[in-house]
Amino acid sequence: MARPTKASIDLAAFKHNYALAKSTAPNAQAVAIVKADAYGHGAVTLSKALENEADAFGVACLEEAIELREAGIKRPILLLEGFFEPSELALIQQYQLWTAVHCQQQIEAIKAQPELSQLHIWLKLDSGMHRLGFNPQDYAKAFHELSVLPQVTQMVHMTHFACADELHKGMTHKQLQACHAVLDNLPAGASFANSAATLAHSQAHQAYIRPGIMLYGADPLDEANRLSKQLRPVMTLTSKIIAVRDIEAGESVGYGERFRATKPMRIGTVAIGYADGYPRHAKDGTPVMVDGVRTQLVGRVSMDMLTVDLTPLPDAHIGSEVELWGKQVLAQEVAECSDTIPYTLFTGITRRVYKEYR
Ligand SMILES: *Cc1c(COP(=O)(O)O)cnc(C)c1O
Repeated sequence: MARPTKASIDLAAFKHNYALAKSTAPNAQAVAIVKADAYGHGAVTLSKALENEADAFGVACLEEAIELREAGIKRPILLLEGFFEPSELALIQQYQLWTAVHCQQQIEAIKAQPELSQLHIWLKLDSGMHRLGFNPQDYAKAFHELSVLPQVTQMVHMTHFACADELHKGMTHKQLQACHAVLDNLPAGASFANSAATLAHSQAHQAYIRPGIMLYGADPLDEANRLSKQLRPVMTLTSKIIAVRDIEAGESVGYGERFRATKPMRIGTVAIGYADGYPRHAKDGTPVMVDGVRTQLVGRVSMDMLTVDLTPLPDAHIGSEVELWGKQVLAQEVAECSDTIPYTLFTGITRRVYKEYR
């Protein structure tokens, strides 16, 4: 028997979530964010599945974009951080990519290459996150500098929110005000919204939304809303029980004796560990499904295995099905029990986990 650890990827759910993003912002185009190998789901396969529907795709770097082009993806592809070296510009043109521009050095690199043409530029405004982009006071100058260049055919305004997922904070409103103050008199379409803003801040929809995590079915909002409740999980991570034993009250389970039984228990060992991407920091009590029954992780996660409480499942046996996250145990729940977010769980899935597309 091969090691029974796999991630099943539900392509219909992925398409459903993209359609939900589009219907949430009916007047916007939607750039499907497939950076980091589509958040660990497989960028080539998912982009191909969405090639007929997607208005554009978004990735973090040239290498990710070229991978999609070589696989036959013809839709526009946006480089969210633009280029890191001037030499990438020739490839951006060759592969017909859209590129972010977030700093003056990038503008100088474009100016220094007059042979370029047909550049689509997403000029980034730092509206308060202070990670990438031009300051509000420098933005108009950068915009005009690029607009007059013969190499440039299209300009889009872009910014990114720091707190769009935290619904009771005023930061998104403040960032939107900063955007309007700078952009309202500069003619171009705009793109502000990540998944959280797509779902919760319709004033931020603008010409292009940039949904990422929501396409994979995880709700980014700190309080679910009517729309986010319609998301469908795309990845189901499963494995099987490979050993079962009974232990006495007072005995411990796993490395460091982290879990200690206070009563007689039945313990199952599952063939998945942190080297597969299951978080080592998952606490005792993290939910897990065995044969359709919700139970919990007990003991520290090992590299290749973890242990679960089978006391409520007297019939569980070697070969019983285990869902680590998916449609029954949400990735958000596992993330919360591991002090992290679904983004790190999905992108942390390693090569050893077999991916099955349905
Ligand atoms: C990753 C990313 C997104 C998507 O963010 P989600 O929270 O996953 O929706 C959008 N815009 C930029 C610039 C990004 O880097």
